[in-house]
Amino acid sequence: MSPEKIETICSIADRFCNGFLRFSTRSNVEFSVDDEAKVEPLIEAIRNELGFPVGGTDPSISNIAHTQGWLHCNLPATDAASAVKALMDDLIEEFENERLPQRVKITTSCCQINCGRHADIGIIVQHQHPPRINYDNMQICDLPKVVAICPAAAIRPAVVNGSPSVEVVPEKCMYCGVCHGQCPSMEIRDADTDTLSIWVGGKGANTRSGPSLMRLAVWGLPNNPPRWPEVSKAVRTILTAYREDAKDWERVGEWIERIGWHRFFEKIGFAFTKYHIEDGPNAMWTYNRSTQVRI
Ligand code: SF4
Repeated sequence: MSPEKIETICSIADRFCNGFLRFSTRSNVEFSVDDEAKVEPLIEAIRNELGFPVGGTDPSISNIAHTQGWLHCNLPATDAASAVKALMDDLIEEFENERLPQRVKITTSCCQINCGRHADIGIIVQHQHPPRINYDNMQICDLPKVVAICPAAAIRPAVVNGSPSVEVVPEKCMYCGVCHGQCPSMEIRDADTDTLSIWVGGKGANTRSGPSLMRLAVWGLPNNPPRWPEVSKAVRTILTAYREDAKDWERVGEWIERIGWHRFFEKIGFAFTKYHIEDGPNAMWTYNRSTQVRI
């Protein structure tokens, strides 16, 4: 953001909010006033002086959170930040108008590990094969850590070309890419085969119902920069069905829970495949579902 914009933000906060404002975790700038009469003049000032859209409150989509993308992340397979720009251009009316049943949080992630967080709608990269190991550079990695970091125990020690190294058991690998973060020689990214998937129904809050996990709704969408039109279209389809069918105050996951997982696919019109079969609902009762973070 330019120094001029920051100066203008401070000036608006001084005039309307006694100098206070808040940068939220979703990259929103929040101005809080103590008098309702200040609201409309404040909105006018933000639009005219800053040129920023105003929205993201109550039943609308809030600013889309994203992971770091090509510039900063060490294992990105897409540019989540640019995908947010493309999506927000398409969904700006849902940001500015409070016309959804409840707030909708959307995230995009440039790898499958998804540090972009849990959300009502999550857009996540999917890899399609196990990592290819670059044995020429394998020695730069801390091999025991590479073996230990795999959540599926798919990496095991091996001697390759006479040197200590590792190998991957393809049948065990779930293509998550965690090992690539630990060791760049475990190359999982593949521009020819990586795709994008859309997950729905995640919620971290305890409001009305407990926290819920996201579920796979759409998979195999092309990773298609710079505008990712297939992803925008799929997200809009889900949002339209949600707006037309959910009750007031229902989050996306609560709506799906009420109508049923199969009915959700009837509403959005996407194919229900074997990958959508829910094989973990009972595991919910054994997971740690507390919203407290344990270290
Ligand atoms: Fe293990 Fe994931 Fe790497 Fe496969 S991609 S070897 S499951 S860490």
